[in-house]
Amino acid sequence: MSPQIPIISVDGVTKRFAFPHSLARRLSGKPPLAVHALNDVNLQVYRGETLGIVGESGCGKSTLARCMVRLLDPDGGAVRFEGRDIAELKSSERRGFNRRVQMIFQDPYSSLNPRMTVSQIIGEALSVHKMRPKEQIAARITELLELVRLPGDAAARYPHEFSGGQRQRIGIARALAVEPDVIVADELVSALDVSVQAQVVNLLLQLQEQLRLTVVFVAHDLRLVRHISHRVAVMYLGQVMEISPSEALFTSPRHPYSKALLDAAPELDPAYRNRNVATRGELPSPVDLPPGCPFAGRCPYVFDRCRTERPLLTPRGNAQFAACHLTSFGAEDQPVTHERPL
Ligand code: SF4
Repeated sequence: MSPQIPIISVDGVTKRFAFPHSLARRLSGKPPLAVHALNDVNLQVYRGETLGIVGESGCGKSTLARCMVRLLDPDGGAVRFEGRDIAELKSSERRGFNRRVQMIFQDPYSSLNPRMTVSQIIGEALSVHKMRPKEQIAARITELLELVRLPGDAAARYPHEFSGGQRQRIGIARALAVEPDVIVADELVSALDVSVQAQVVNLLLQLQEQLRLTVVFVAHDLRLVRHISHRVAVMYLGQVMEISPSEALFTSPRHPYSKALLDAAPELDPAYRNRNVATRGELPSPVDLPPGCPFAGRCPYVFDRCRTERPLLTPRGNAQFAACHLTSFGAEDQPVTHERPL
């Protein structure tokens, strides 16, 4: 695969969530406090690729995913789909966008209507977007259930009759019903048992290849992200710290935070667990961001410039990009090996 054409571009996107304006701040003429969830995020998703987005809880990855499908509108910058700013789509174009870019949510227990059978859930998606004539809908539902490897009798049953992994398959079938170009999967398997996670992720991997889908896979589990992604974006405090091809990120990270995240990642096999966690210090408050590099307070390589000047994403060779004032931070001298397969 040689992904070249961006299907989604995130251009300088910012998103803030304001707290209620307190009386004290109002009286003193100060604006309401706000969480800076996304701060000038730039990335491209190429047609046919799987882009993993990783980072610690609260780094903004789910907010970014919601901006990509326009569940949230950015405060600044733009999300473009095939070059068009999705905030400027007319209502008829918006319907087309909503069909072509589908989101699968984290919680399979709450994202399916408990009062509808699987057939009704998938049939509704087919009908709303007029994907098939009425007489062909039942056959298409059977096809979709086969595609996600659910038994034929699943159509007549209700969501509560299925396991968590099976419910996530129903969610995938519902998303595929409208024949999307892009699937945005937000923590798709994090609510599932470890034993089931790999099955659902492998299914998504196969469907991505079979249907030539573009997938944005948002997760905090680095093993899953490595397994499924062609490229990975590492986020920290609402910013992209590194974007690299998956294998390059895991064998030769170009940002100190990426390296810290990899070093701290729990391994299933304790023999491979790295106890020298490189991340130190406190995570800065997203309400009061530091002026320079957001990782400066925790970075073992910090120097004066880091505290005043925000680094931008710049090329590092091997199709890697990193937002760091150092072009080398010792990764070459201290090669990391995170080569545990899923
Ligand atoms: Fe560390 Fe400075 Fe690079 Fe930030 S810019 S990651 S503080 S070396």
